[in-house]
Amino acid sequence: RPGQPGLGRAAGVELPAAPQGPMPHRREHQVVRAQGPRLFQQQGHHDGTQFPQNEHGSKARNHRIILNEQLNLIINNLNLKELSYTDGLTRLKNNMYFRNKLDEIFAKNQSAHLVLLDVDFFKRINDQYGHPGGDEVLIFLGETITKKMSQYKTVQEDATIARIGGEEFAVLIPNLSTEFAKDFAEDLRKSVEQSKVKFNENEICFTISLGIAGSASVRIRKEQGPKILYKLADDALYISKRTGRNRLTVTHENE
Ligand code: GH3
Ligand code: MG
Ligand code: MG
Repeated sequence: RPGQPGLGRAAGVELPAAPQGPMPHRREHQVVRAQGPRLFQQQGHHDGTQFPQNEHGSKARNHRIILNEQLNLIINNLNLKELSYTDGLTRLKNNMYFRNKLDEIFAKNQSAHLVLLDVDFFKRINDQYGHPGGDEVLIFLGETITKKMSQYKTVQEDATIARIGGEEFAVLIPNLSTEFAKDFAEDLRKSVEQSKVKFNENEICFTISLGIAGSASVRIRKEQGPKILYKLADDALYISKRTGRNRLTVTHENE
């Protein structure tokens, strides 16, 4: 303002104790608490220009903004959660999700079957076609398991299909018989055996070995359940490997 010292000017120049004359002061919003909730009001200008007062419109607008922001936060959190449970290569669930599901099954005292499967001689596929060729096989296998499961409409939603290691996958099937798990696994094994994975100019053939165990075989305290069920299925898978690969081994309840 002419004749008034400004902030940060020369040393020794003092700021006035109080502004003189009318300030170009806007008070468009003032928080008021009428019967509790916080409202925002248009207050207009000191120079006499008034804005229409519409506290209800203003309140609704503010609520809308806050709701939108909350919704965005929820969506972002859900996306992050989904991402942290997804295997980057196959887009299946990852090991962390699988472990949580397995814990959940035992915490709820649910019955379930665990199918573990591993690609046979996968190292050779990598050696022959390179790492990208191996990756293509893993993606194909993930899709094949999902497709096979989708043929069993009633099971599809409850089952968890996960890539739990390099070339190792798990299918967790709650509430069904050993017969069902066995049929599904054998169906999958045959389907993989008959497939050819297109990669560049090549068609890659491969097989899988599988192991199955059911929660009925696990008669111990809940906390130990997931670990023991996994061990049983893994032992069964190891037997399939040792006895020639491209086969299925089932741990029976009384074993
Ligand atoms: P087996 O029949 O006994 O299972 O033999 P294998 O060759 O399948 O098993 P092995 O454990 O000897 O080799 C697994 C290989 O999988 C070694 C590793 O380099 C490779 N691998 C692990 N993760 C990935 C991946 O994400 N992509 C590719 N292309 N290869 C991977
Ligand atoms: Mg393997
Ligand atoms: Mg392996």
